[in-house]
Amino acid sequence: ALRRSVIEWLMINHPHDCPVCDEGGECQLQDFTIAGGHGMRRYDGRKRTYSNQFLGPYIEHEMNRCIQCYRCARFYQEYAGGTDFGTMGRAAMIYFGRQQDGQLESPFSGNLVDICPTGVFTDKTARFRARYWDYDMAPSICPHCSLGCNTIPAARYRELLKVMARRNDAVNGWFICDKGRFSNAEVNAAERPRQPLVDTEPATRDQALDTLAERIKGFLELHGPDSLAIIGSPRMSLEGNIMAARLRDVLNAGTLSFFCDTEQNTRALEATEKLTHRTSASLNDVRSADLVAIAGCDLPNDAPMMALAVRQAWRNGARIYRIGENPAAGDRFQTALHEATHAASLADVPLTEAARPVLICGTGTAREAIPTVSDAVKLAFILDGPNSFACAVLSREHGAVSLAEALAAGTIKGILAFEADVADDLPANIQVLAAADWRATSLIQRAEIVLPTTAWVEMEGTFVNNEGRAQRFKRVMQPGLPIKGLDPAGHPPHAFRKTAPGGEPAPAWQWIALLIEHMGGEPSDVLLSGRWEQLTQLDPEKDGLSVLTKG
Ligand code: SF4
Ligand code: SF4
Repeated sequence: ALRRSVIEWLMINHPHDCPVCDEGGECQLQDFTIAGGHGMRRYDGRKRTYSNQFLGPYIEHEMNRCIQCYRCARFYQEYAGGTDFGTMGRAAMIYFGRQQDGQLESPFSGNLVDICPTGVFTDKTARFRARYWDYDMAPSICPHCSLGCNTIPAARYRELLKVMARRNDAVNGWFICDKGRFSNAEVNAAERPRQPLVDTEPATRDQALDTLAERIKGFLELHGPDSLAIIGSPRMSLEGNIMAARLRDVLNAGTLSFFCDTEQNTRALEATEKLTHRTSASLNDVRSADLVAIAGCDLPNDAPMMALAVRQAWRNGARIYRIGENPAAGDRFQTALHEATHAASLADVPLTEAARPVLICGTGTAREAIPTVSDAVKLAFILDGPNSFACAVLSREHGAVSLAEALAAGTIKGILAFEADVADDLPANIQVLAAADWRATSLIQRAEIVLPTTAWVEMEGTFVNNEGRAQRFKRVMQPGLPIKGLDPAGHPPHAFRKTAPGGEPAPAWQWIALLIEHMGGEPSDVLLSGRWEQLTQLDPEKDGLSVLTKG
């Protein structure tokens, strides 16, 4: 009865506008109102109303729906260190917003959408596109940095509409950053590769693969086995990278690369060599550390959730040290996150005085600066992609070198690139035999044969995050052109077809498996994803992939 009364009291001022509210269907207040049986409004006075603010392109503001729970202000200011949003007001007129209209400055502002128990903050990018029960959803992993935050992407009609945080206490906790939440529009782009191409002409999968197999054979006969580079990528799934290595073994030719840049390659190799089960620091280890030393990091940009984890350690009393130059010096938001003491070198940090020290090495940490520390100090490396750790392990296992190194050797005359971010200055005399990608990269424009791959939300796979935690992502939606983008004259379709329009993309690992088959190798239709025993057995030394942790 008490709860019922509280709900009725909350609903005195809350608008009865569920049918036109974007939160309807995923609203905690709506759930409790229905659970409490509140259906009739007995109070007939005027409702309290407010003006809304423009909060930027991502967050819609509708203050009349506020029930003054203070969750938003506590998260934004206390948990995330934001200073441009808060509570204003007097007596019963409490306002949650900014001092004036303007984009929210915090790189974690999107969490307001998940946190607010009513529809005050909703995701503007997905506004009025679907109700909660319309979504295709599945557990997924953020691909935008090496931390591997857990997410739930939501799609409808082959269009990725929004991404929500998924709780994982060892990794991201309850939250994700705005980069992970709002940087996904590329998946829906009509112009991304969606059709196999041979010399810019549309082709079927078999035509493309037959032609590619023939051209690879001819190329190797003409130029020799050392002339081909097979390039995997830290943004491709573990399964795709494993298949790239298998392709090299089947061809018994070619130089294998998982990184284009030598510095990235070296740093990832160093990181995987130094990390063990004992020394690898999860985000939760950082949050509960009592001393954090940061070297060569621009955390708010390179790994935002790591910056948030450091703030939680600082709020709990940890001492924070910043070693050497700070690439993000002057960044107002970084300064607001936590106070830090400057240390000239690691020797100036009192690591031995701490019970739970963590050392964070960033992408700006030069190889020689990566320190050797005792097992008592946990280490976190910020790497260059969602799967850098796995690529480094595979690199070591298969003797791969970076593409830059391979090119410098002077024997490479052609490349096969799988979701690889090859620099635009790839020499013009290097033949791009094929490029497989779901992004419309400049390499795709140059490739003789284009193999369209699925984005991470359109397939199952595995990413291994910066601490060596192997995490699976599930397929959220079918590949294909979003219905919204189809020519209205062509929809609904009048001819039967087995795939959706633009639905030709396949996972990169599957393209490589099919290519191996077309080249006369053993058919390999086994989906490695989730077969942990197979993944761990791939390293006979048991010191490579066996360092992975399921998470
Ligand atoms: S979280 Fe939502 S309901 Fe709670 S105080 Fe903030 S705006 Fe109001
Ligand atoms: S911190 Fe990295 S992995 Fe986590 S949500 Fe942000 S971009 Fe994605």
